[in-house]
Amino acid sequence: MEQFPAESISGIRLLRFPRALEQEFRRYHLQIFLVRMRWALLVATSLFLLFAVLDIISLPEPVRTQVLALRLGLILPPLVLTWAATYRPRLHDWLQWIGGAASLICGLGVVGVIGVARSHAFPLPYEGIILVTFAFYFLTGLHFVPAVVCGWLTFAAYLGMELLAGTPGDELLYNAFFLGTANVIGTTGCYFLEYAVRQQFLAKKELREMAEKDPLTGLLNRRAFTTRAESAWRQAQREHHAVGVAMIDVDFFKRYNDHYGHAAGDAALRQVAQVLHDHARRPLDSVARYGGEEFVGLWYDVRAEDMQALLEQVRAGVAALALPHTASDAAAHVSISIGLLHSHPQPGDNLEAALRQADAALYRAKAQGRNRVTP
Ligand code: GH3
Ligand code: MG
Ligand code: MG
Repeated sequence: MEQFPAESISGIRLLRFPRALEQEFRRYHLQIFLVRMRWALLVATSLFLLFAVLDIISLPEPVRTQVLALRLGLILPPLVLTWAATYRPRLHDWLQWIGGAASLICGLGVVGVIGVARSHAFPLPYEGIILVTFAFYFLTGLHFVPAVVCGWLTFAAYLGMELLAGTPGDELLYNAFFLGTANVIGTTGCYFLEYAVRQQFLAKKELREMAEKDPLTGLLNRRAFTTRAESAWRQAQREHHAVGVAMIDVDFFKRYNDHYGHAAGDAALRQVAQVLHDHARRPLDSVARYGGEEFVGLWYDVRAEDMQALLEQVRAGVAALALPHTASDAAAHVSISIGLLHSHPQPGDNLEAALRQADAALYRAKAQGRNRVTP
């Protein structure tokens, strides 16, 4: 029932969500941009190779050798290595760093190419730097911050190179203005792009949660539970683990509503749900609202006696809420009955049958006087 309130919204504006959400966003971003990044690297590598061919055809010596050394020796290897890294899932957490470093080397390499040409008074157009600048912002799949760092550091390196090369002031001013403008456009565009991706991420997350969650309690709904529980069930079959399945029902809840009102009934259901949620913490455990005042849960890889003890804690946890229920014959407070099935799922066993057995156990719990856990 994790909620990401108002600060998530400012998180879009600052391009940074609270920690857990930010990590989830990064995984989402990677999922979208991994393929784009591969294509961008292939395109960049092919273009640099084409430029190398152009260098061979059109540049005089010694400019040609020096420029080729930069293109093939400095710029190409990081591009190829980054491309290879996109195929190594272990490196995916570092891909922004690796891609950022490769992009920066690429930018500085292109500045170097122009610098070499300048040092031999060969008129190579500087516009190549504008092209790589746009690539940083719009093609690489880099996040806003690394893209901006690459863009502006390359800009600074270009200025430094031109000053060292003694380029005339008016030409330098003109070029710097153009490259600076390219960076301003890139920075702004890249910001809006990432802003939109973050908005899209939040919207999809919200949609998914709406589809999976019960609005009253924030627990999973029955459909989402079935999907998750079936997958946990199959995993337990494959890996020979035990699971606990429980059906949970609030005792004399109709009377509670009649006596305290529907709104109080809703509030009580939320509190019961919270207790359940607090007792299903591991990744493959799930609890859900099955419907009305009934809940359901599956606990993965758990021993029979631990399961019984855990559900006893749930029952005691609901009792400890101490919500008065004077109309109940089971206790003076809101109480729950729990039917439990502990099982080592065999091939051919299905979850549906397990839930039916847990439901039968719940029926027995009711018959034996409620407010208890019955296997
Ligand atoms: P038992 O101890 O045998 O379970 O009795 P019970 O009254 O709890 O069972 P019954 O199935 O007769 O009634 C369930 C009641 O739960 C009926 C309904 O008013 C209430 N209920 C179901 N969904 C909601 C809900 O979303 N909010 C509220 N406030 N009450 C609900
Ligand atoms: Mg009930
Ligand atoms: Mg019921």
